[in-house]
Amino acid sequence: MRVGSGFDVHAFGPGDHVMLGGVRVPHSQGVVAHSDGDVLLHALCDALLGAAGLGDIGQHFPDSDPQWRGASSDRFVTHAVTLLRERGYSIVNADLTLLCEAPRLSGHRDAIRSAIATLLGVAADAVNLKATTTEKMGYLGRREGLAAEAVVLITRA
Ligand code: MG
Repeated sequence: MRVGSGFDVHAFGPGDHVMLGGVRVPHSQGVVAHSDGDVLLHALCDALLGAAGLGDIGQHFPDSDPQWRGASSDRFVTHAVTLLRERGYSIVNADLTLLCEAPRLSGHRDAIRSAIATLLGVAADAVNLKATTTEKMGYLGRREGLAAEAVVLITRA
């Protein structure tokens, strides 16, 4: 068994939605990002890579590379899952936390959980999704952006 953790943050910018776990969530702002700025999937990707000792998302998908401009972040996760499978690992479970004042996860939680489970090739109950605010403190509390943490456990049969 090996564990990996990931963290990601993106600033809000112009737009009318944010991508969360591969799901389009309507919001009064978008995010500033080279890719689609999906903090949940970026944190998840780093957790997957971390568990397998494979570095981080920036090493695999450099934001200086035009092929990742506007990229759908499920490509990052799918690639990380492939790298793990090639090394004989399977995913036990993933636990993710979204940190922001808005948007709220309610109404999207089941769709996001299901989308992430599909990307990972695991049952929905192997994916947990939590949300918290930072009690209006700091950059997240001032609604300057949103952040996510992820923890993943993997095992080699
Ligand atoms: Mg990111």
